Amino acid sequence: MTDKYDAVIVGAGTAGLSAALALGRAMRRTLVLDGGAPRNASADHSHNLFTRDGVPPDELLRLGKRDLEKYETVAVREGVATGASGADGGFTVTLSDGDSVLARKLLIASGQTDVMPDVPGFAEAWGRGIYHCPFCHGWEVRERPLAVYASGEMVMFRVTLIRNWSRDLIAITDGTEVPDKDRKKLDALGVPLYEGPIFVIESDAEERKLTCIVLEDGTDIEREGLFTNPPQRQSSGLAEMLGCETEYVEMMQSHVISADPGTRETTVKGVFVAGDAGKMMQSLANAVASGCAVGAFITHALCGDDVAAELASLTEKRA
Ligand SMILES: Cc1cc2nc3c(=O)[nH]c(=O)nc-3n(C[C@H](O)[C@H](O)[C@H](O)COP(=O)(O)OP(=O)(O)OC[C@H]3O[C@@H](n4cnc5c(N)ncnc54)[C@H](O)[C@@H]3O)c2cc1C
Repeated sequence: MTDKYDAVIVGAGTAGLSAALALGRAMRRTLVLDGGAPRNASADHSHNLFTRDGVPPDELLRLGKRDLEKYETVAVREGVATGASGADGGFTVTLSDGDSVLARKLLIASGQTDVMPDVPGFAEAWGRGIYHCPFCHGWEVRERPLAVYASGEMVMFRVTLIRNWSRDLIAITDGTEVPDKDRKKLDALGVPLYEGPIFVIESDAEERKLTCIVLEDGTDIEREGLFTNPPQRQSSGLAEMLGCETEYVEMMQSHVISADPGTRETTVKGVFVAGDAGKMMQSLANAVASGCAVGAFITHALCGDDVAAELASLTEKRA
């Protein structure tokens, strides 16, 4: 057990490191717990990120940690947070090595994990031919043969967007019903509709690209990119342990941690959220922005507590 940090940040991804920069520069003693790989680790490059377009995911985080080195107020420690308890001003975070750390404020920046469907070859191609976000990876497969994989209800919605990157587009459903009105629209737009589900994904590991999608009925479809949004789960269970409320976001198929839209404080006082773990359009740029903002709001909260404590002590002395 060490003495108390002003803030402990769970997760040394883009959001966590960005928050640490703001807190460190505000001279707040901050500990960042680095639990391992970020969500985009399977991708070769990060895109659509101001001044860092094309940087590999691990390099991006290396640069983020390097920026923190000059602030003696910030420490980054390897370790997975396995538990959290306490209340505003006095949280205890336990680590996988059995150690514990104390914090006045807690930031959950542990992100989301994409739950891979039970389709052979899917996980191997995730981020290298199978993508969740066209803004991140659409340019690299623009005008190539692409596919959308979604539930019957969502297929038209996804096609509407992905068509922007390629007109050589097919749609595959997970076997659930496509509304008649959407079938007509897909037909009118010349987007072939296949009733899935997908049986196997074939990809070229060396070239790191998708080659073929095989459906359960044996149909082979040669494609170079597949856009789909698998369900997500919170990467850490800390919000649940602390009793933070979550909300389900249908579009992301994900439970995100509820928070004040301004300060990003969760429903548990003193616990904040940044990045994918909370509600935002999931991207590196937004993770940077939310981390930066939450770092400022945690500082505000700490300053407020300090002033209140100082005023209380002055009143006591005068009495
Ligand atoms: C394949 C893929 C490619 C992507 N490409 C792009 C792209 O090109 N451009 C873009 O803008 N967005 C991209 N994204 C989205 C982007 O990765 C996320 O929006 C971003 O990583 C969110 O940052 P974060 O810090 O919230 O979470 P993360 O980056 O996931 O970081 C969270 C960190 O917390 C750690 N952690 C988890 N649990 C614990 C714990 N208990 N204790 C300690 N640490 C813990 C994790 O190991 C991780 O390092 C991509 C996503 C995927 C899936």
